[in-house]
Amino acid sequence: MAKKYRVKCPQCGEIINLADSGACSKCGTMIDVNMPACVELYRMGNMMGAATGYGIYINDVPFGAIGNRESLCFPLPYGEYKMHIVCGMSRKCNDPVIKLTAEDPHVCLKVHMKMGFVQNSFILERVDPSTMPD
Ligand SMILES: [Zn+2]
Repeated sequence: MAKKYRVKCPQCGEIINLADSGACSKCGTMIDVNMPACVELYRMGNMMGAATGYGIYINDVPFGAIGNRESLCFPLPYGEYKMHIVCGMSRKCNDPVIKLTAEDPHVCLKVHMKMGFVQNSFILERVDPSTMPD
């Protein structure tokens, strides 16, 4: 399966999916997906709320949603990013902070929901790229 890039248009702020570098579907700005670093996110399949997208936040900026068993690639400049996932009333997340550097430019994360007594929470785990689905 081809990679799906999820980007935020620097011009108009629209959240869009791209298969490769291309124009923003809203304002036409050219968006380059070949950034120095990227985060890949895979949502592990689960029965609970399978039909509902999980909201994605990177440094508190909303980046759309991820569907059940979907994987997305976020091209990003080097830097530190706090990853946060929410879904409906479930707003607890382990909020890992990842560092994208020249030595470590490609971080793969899997997210799954942990059932809780009071509320569910999201666990984001860094995984080896070889364990990511193609
Ligand atoms: Zn745009």
